[in-house]
Amino acid sequence: MSPISQSHRMSNYFLPTLKETPSEAQIVSHRLMLRAGMVRQSAAGIYSWLPLGLRALRKIEAIVRDEQAKAGAIEMLMPTLQSADIWRESGRYEDYGKEMLRITDRHGRDLLYGPTNEELITQIFRDNVVSYKDLPKNLYHIQWKFRDEIRPRFGVMRGREFLMKDGYSFDVDEASARVSYYKMFIAYLRSFRRMGLKAMPVAADTGPIGGELSHEFIILADTGESEVFCHSDILNLPVPEADYDGDLGPTIESFTQYYARSDEMHDADMFAQQVPAEKQLTARGIEVGHIFYFGQKYSTAMNAQVAGPDGKDTPVHGGSYGIGVSRLVGGIIEASHDEDGIIWPWAVAPFHVGLINLKPGHEGCDALCESLFETLSQNGLDVLYDDRDDRAGAKFSTMDLIGLPWQAVIGPRGAEGGEVEIKNRATGEKHVLVLDAAIALLSSSPDSAK
Ligand code: ATP
Ligand code: MG
Repeated sequence: MSPISQSHRMSNYFLPTLKETPSEAQIVSHRLMLRAGMVRQSAAGIYSWLPLGLRALRKIEAIVRDEQAKAGAIEMLMPTLQSADIWRESGRYEDYGKEMLRITDRHGRDLLYGPTNEELITQIFRDNVVSYKDLPKNLYHIQWKFRDEIRPRFGVMRGREFLMKDGYSFDVDEASARVSYYKMFIAYLRSFRRMGLKAMPVAADTGPIGGELSHEFIILADTGESEVFCHSDILNLPVPEADYDGDLGPTIESFTQYYARSDEMHDADMFAQQVPAEKQLTARGIEVGHIFYFGQKYSTAMNAQVAGPDGKDTPVHGGSYGIGVSRLVGGIIEASHDEDGIIWPWAVAPFHVGLINLKPGHEGCDALCESLFETLSQNGLDVLYDDRDDRAGAKFSTMDLIGLPWQAVIGPRGAEGGEVEIKNRATGEKHVLVLDAAIALLSSSPDSAK
């Protein structure tokens, strides 16, 4: 059976692109997401995902799921609405403040739109797990969150409603919790790299619990809201292997040996001492993930205990692990675009190939386009076929704007000789190829040529 492809013809797709630059958008990813018809704002910081945007979001989710599974995490789904009661137990109902959207139902019960899920997962855990023998466990979901951010901005980068992968680990003691943390550290690096990003783990504030187990994953971008200070070599480390049964310590150490801190944790003297002047990098970046070991904070407050090997009950050790799935769509565009539009990395591209028919209605063009469209789709590639009756220039600029990795162009002259012109969106490089050679080229990622 061939893989299921999700190809579409533009004549019956929904791709409302904009020619003008929307004035409300301050950064390039926001502008391009609006222009490419990926999202539309419905209220401040709240977006509808149009078909093209949703496809990018789903591809990012798929990478996250795959790497989570490799690291042993298990997917579930918790609701967006939560009862205030469990938040009162943890003490965060009051502490969370105005960022929490609070709701009262018809019976006068207090609910809230979840900004995160430590309380809910701890409740599920304590009601269902009683022994250390069932540990470790790492449970995650990919679900919409709501935080009533004081200043939602930059499109999906800082939304109020946003899609997050959040996972929670449960271990019997600190040593095993550390292993769970390390697994996520590696899974995160692998996930971001697969999306075409270089994400740098920086030491982050652990708050009142202390310890060194909190890292933010930052991709460098001038428009980023985070400031980081690091040894520049950390950016050139290889992506770790996913050998989750081995000793992960040395791999983690290969990263943490370098100074890399967020601004809250930055220590200028230490930076000067530990990092040679020519390696000191101060930059802005986008936080795309955050992992955190919080020990027994929630298990103590909410009485989530397991019987240990000695038969005594102890509160479990927890960690939480977040990825900004919807923020990543903007982050990837910030990292990969040019003046004409988006340049999607192959792995997250909403479609792999944009097929342009320069002369719909022309027998030769139609036949060759149909043949290419069918074959590529059967081979499992996602193709967006511009079969509309429109000017060539308009078609080219739309394809450049939406940034699919390959463009395949068929016009009357090429059709006669059975030839397809292929353009690599990232490099602009063009090849004229006969059908079979074109199919072979279009079936592979062009990313290595960048
Ligand atoms: P930030 O410092 O950017 O406000 P945070 O530290 O409050 O984020 P976490 O609680 O660590 O966020 O959430 C996990 C991830 O969710 C973040 O690393 C980020 O990628 C994403 N995220 C957080 N807030 C938002 C938001 N308002 N819009 C989009 N993504 C967000
Ligand atoms: Mg964070």
